[in-house]
Amino acid sequence: MSPIITRPSPEAHPDRDAAARRRAARLAKATTAQMQAALAFLSMIDPEAFEIAMTAATPDLADDPEDEDPIPLCATCGAPVALFPDQDLTWLHYRGTPSASGPHHPYNPGHTPNPAWYLPHEAAEEF
Ligand SMILES: [Zn+2]
Repeated sequence: MSPIITRPSPEAHPDRDAAARRRAARLAKATTAQMQAALAFLSMIDPEAFEIAMTAATPDLADDPEDEDPIPLCATCGAPVALFPDQDLTWLHYRGTPSASGPHHPYNPGHTPNPAWYLPHEAAEEF
């Protein structure tokens, strides 16, 4: 004779995608304080999972050259080149910081700029 009240049993084939979607939905609704508390709790009960999560969330950008922005350099001499709006938008060699806001001092090295785009690690190998 079988019991009238059945005990709940784990699903034979749990829908892992649905469970992942539910977790993603909860995460999307969580506040910053809730996420911090959850990660603090995770760091206590499963330090390894905490380290994996933190590493995934804050990758070291210096280790991934694909995340670098390309920079314009002269393919002839390797010097930084840029378009100068106040000089007819022409490519010129310059000295100074490579950021758009930094001071730039155009100069003439004796040849026409040959602009090409390089990732910083490519530029270091090329020139
Ligand atoms: Zn050059």
